[in-house]
Amino acid sequence: MTRIVYVNGEYLPEDQAKVSVFDRGFLFADGVYEVTSVLDGKLIDFDGHTKRLTRSLNELDMRAPCDSATLLEIHRELVTRNDLVDGMIYLQITRGAPNDRDFAYPAPETEPTLVLFTQSKPGLADSPMAKTGMKVISIEDQRWGRRDIKTVQLLYPSMGKMMAKAAGCDDAWMVEDGAVTEGTSNNAYIIKDGTIITRNLGTEILHGITRAAVLRFAREAQMKVEERPFTVAEAQAADEAFITSASTFVMPVVELDGQSIGTGKPGPVAARLREIYLEESRKAAI
Ligand code: PMP
Repeated sequence: MTRIVYVNGEYLPEDQAKVSVFDRGFLFADGVYEVTSVLDGKLIDFDGHTKRLTRSLNELDMRAPCDSATLLEIHRELVTRNDLVDGMIYLQITRGAPNDRDFAYPAPETEPTLVLFTQSKPGLADSPMAKTGMKVISIEDQRWGRRDIKTVQLLYPSMGKMMAKAAGCDDAWMVEDGAVTEGTSNNAYIIKDGTIITRNLGTEILHGITRAAVLRFAREAQMKVEERPFTVAEAQAADEAFITSASTFVMPVVELDGQSIGTGKPGPVAARLREIYLEESRKAAI
């Protein structure tokens, strides 16, 4: 089956979907994106993702190509046209394609580019990694300073994944001024004496939609949460560690820079949070 993607108002087979060579997403990484998970054909946390998208656009003075209700319709249409059961929907908006290359933003009436595509991941919520846990390395955080905006500048995270791969690991946690910021494509957490510790919000990290939901569920379950920076040494001495993101939900981390965390196996708190998150998100899916 050919994947159907959405480009600027049209649903097209992927080999016919094109954007201009002058698109500012291509020339300047002048674009933002969102990733929404689909479980059983339904969208997880859609409202959170559209709210963050609006914020990203506002922070960059970028025009929204349409309203949130239209975006919801497009997401649903892509689920239907691609028979998507489990997987992700990627949405990208760029500042459009003026007729030449110029650092200055194009005229405000320039149409933004809107692209959405699906990725099918059957059994997304049953990833074997939830049972084994992930191994991560630490690397220096060399990204730009506005990581709270979800831009398509993903080269450094991409380099980080390659560094992790070269070290025989699954991902990298980025470190700045001695403290962990986040994973290459996820938020990072440790658990010590029953307290969940994760980096506080700011411009240093992406404000994860999964993070917000998981912390809310944790507090509702009377778990203690501390939002503050933590070091690699603190993480290595923690009882458990995990990451969150829209596509991995809650995923245990069992090793950091070659050192086992806790028992070296996925811990009970991460497992419980994963269970609660999946259960509650499925219930609220639209
Ligand atoms: N941090 C970074 C750098 C990310 O790329 C992502 C995933 N896009 C996250 C955190 C997690 O965010 P979310 O839970 O909204 O997927």
